[in-house]
Amino acid sequence: MAEETVSKNFIEQEIEKDLREGVYDHVCTRFPPEPNGYLHIGHAKSILLNYGIAQEYGGTFHMRFDDTNPTKEKTEFVESILEDIRWLGADWKDHLYFASDYFDIMYECAVKLIKKGKAYVCDLTPDEIREYRGTLTEPGKNSPYRERSVEENLELFEGMKAGKYEDGSRVLRAKIDMASPNINMRDPILYRVAHMSHHNTGDKWCIYPMYDFAHPIEDAVEGITHSLCTLEFEDHRPLYDWVVRECEFENPPRQIEFAKLYLTNVVTGKRYIKKLVEEKIVDGWDDPRLVSIAALRRRGFTPESIKMFVDMCGISKSQSSADYAMLEYCIREDLKLKRPRMMAVLDPVKLVIDNYPEDQVEELDAPNNQENEELGSRKVPFCRELYIEREDFMEEPPKKYFRLFPGNEVRLMNAYFVTCTGCEKDEDGNVTVVHCTYDPETKCGTGFTGRKVKGTIHWVPAPYAVKATARLYENLIDEEKGVYNKEDGSLNLNPNSMTVKEIYVEPALAGAQAYESFQFVRQGYFCVDSHDSRPDALVFNRIVSLKSSFKLPKK
Ligand code: ATP
Ligand code: MG
Repeated sequence: MAEETVSKNFIEQEIEKDLREGVYDHVCTRFPPEPNGYLHIGHAKSILLNYGIAQEYGGTFHMRFDDTNPTKEKTEFVESILEDIRWLGADWKDHLYFASDYFDIMYECAVKLIKKGKAYVCDLTPDEIREYRGTLTEPGKNSPYRERSVEENLELFEGMKAGKYEDGSRVLRAKIDMASPNINMRDPILYRVAHMSHHNTGDKWCIYPMYDFAHPIEDAVEGITHSLCTLEFEDHRPLYDWVVRECEFENPPRQIEFAKLYLTNVVTGKRYIKKLVEEKIVDGWDDPRLVSIAALRRRGFTPESIKMFVDMCGISKSQSSADYAMLEYCIREDLKLKRPRMMAVLDPVKLVIDNYPEDQVEELDAPNNQENEELGSRKVPFCRELYIEREDFMEEPPKKYFRLFPGNEVRLMNAYFVTCTGCEKDEDGNVTVVHCTYDPETKCGTGFTGRKVKGTIHWVPAPYAVKATARLYENLIDEEKGVYNKEDGSLNLNPNSMTVKEIYVEPALAGAQAYESFQFVRQGYFCVDSHDSRPDALVFNRIVSLKSSFKLPKK
């Protein structure tokens, strides 16, 4: 059967089992970020997983901001997160929610637990609560406030809500089991007093629910069936199940955990990125050297390439780290046939064709992508003076150098064969001009088969070339040393993570728009920078070079 050839990941298998057994008759997933920073490549995995699952099973995907913590959240991040998710192609349709909209329901749930004798107000100080909690090897002990009556608990909890008590003076705790081997079950805190304004509810509340209490309620209220989260929540699952059961939700959601996506030698922690931004080591949260989704977009990655990467990483229960080279492989694969291949010279030196008529200009035809004819062709002006890469000429070449050196003939891409005749140098011995002659019989595209040359080099016409800026990137991290300094925990930075170059590009690139990307032949894929590029001063970010160190694993 054809179906059997497609292997399902363990989450799909669990969902199919639930559907088969009638635990749920539909699928509803969600992505629940806290609006306290920018999303990164790891979040993309979670978004694409949740959205993909909903689509696969004809279900619904919810976008929910987990904004229950008033201290850290900012509305600024709400917009950036929505933009990133939209760009990735995950469509929440009209299912956009804010956890803070459920504060009333959460409060009612807490009251219900108190009435059932499943929650109590505790007056221990934060230090005492920690002390009473016990350790991994020792059970905790009961709080002296654990046996308060339902009436007293209700009155105190109402007092907490009414603002009668100071921050940290009282909490509402679940009454579960102080001797549980799972510390999360030792009467966890459900509500705390915090006199803080919330971006959505303003000053309405001075008590706020804890994550482990709020999250399952959010899922249940929305009718989520499968709450997919990362492995660190595995030990919280018994509490998740306790909350939805004791609050008596019908068809409660089910939590399933999967491993986080990590990239080797890449910084993803918000704390570190924040520091890099504040110290102006990078140019904001979307600096193209970072792997926030906004940064990847600015660098020139596509949603398709990120999806390919996430798919290649797969979904599993075991923690692992993917190689950045794999992400590079994915963007190369995605752009290979999609984007035009143009000529740009990154380290220019002049090439003069001495036998080419001085006032002649030809418009040569250049295919935009030899592997994809649908991209058509363009005209490139050709004339006596060109720019070529400095490294494409050597006065005294080593063996196996097939580019320009005195007496050698090469092909100028999309143009003619030229034979090098020599060069001019300045006082310091630097080459300033390379000279050559061309053979008019060898025009590209005319079917010339007279002789073969081993080297083909790219060029731009000097008088018509457009001056631009290129930014070449390396890893922000010094890979030899690893991400973190062992002594002080700081980041080991690579001082060469960005090189800025004045380059020449062919005239067809004039007017290139932000986010447009191109292959510059022999140099890599480049994308027009969305912050700094202007029509009269183009700035290109190198997405990736053409060479790859990544090999696809054999199936
Ligand atoms: P970070 O620790 O990187 O700041 P976070 O977990 O605090 O991330 P949230 O806003 O809570 O950020 O994350 C939203 C969702 O994304 C959660 O369900 C979380 O499990 C998931 N997620 C976070 N990081 C990763 C990752 N590296 N790989 C896969 N999923 C992730
Ligand atoms: Mg978090």
